[in-house]
Amino acid sequence: MDLNSIYSEIILEHSQSSHNKRHLHSPDCQERGYNPSCGDDIILELKLEQNKIAEAAFTGAGCAISQASTSIMVDLINQKPIDEALELANTFLSMIKKQITEDSELEVLEDAIAFKNISNMPARVKCAVLSWRTLMEALKKLEAQKAEAATEQ
Ligand code: ZN
Repeated sequence: MDLNSIYSEIILEHSQSSHNKRHLHSPDCQERGYNPSCGDDIILELKLEQNKIAEAAFTGAGCAISQASTSIMVDLINQKPIDEALELANTFLSMIKKQITEDSELEVLEDAIAFKNISNMPARVKCAVLSWRTLMEALKKLEAQKAEAATEQ
């Protein structure tokens, strides 16, 4: 089996798994991610604890690529400090843009490395990055809320 078939296998497997697809009990944020070019529509839910993502989950629907990418991301960011999750998002986006190509630098992405060659299918890139962009947006908003709360005190 060549590497590309292994990657496809990983994506297929995750697109069918639903263990991360659920609502959280009173999440700290719910961020919608929508990709009009494909119709992928997800809602990412996060529960924070200090500076850590205590729990993450998602709901929504979309193509196999978007669903797999979201589920893999949720696996990865669960229980991670926020800055580490952001670092992962940056690494993922750099991988897609082919700014990082060394496998040793991509190891942190675990199964998300399966999207390494997605830029060979330009129409699918937005599907693969949707969840990561949604995560960055959610964390940016949470950061802004925190800053606002701090000035109010
Ligand atoms: Zn899609």
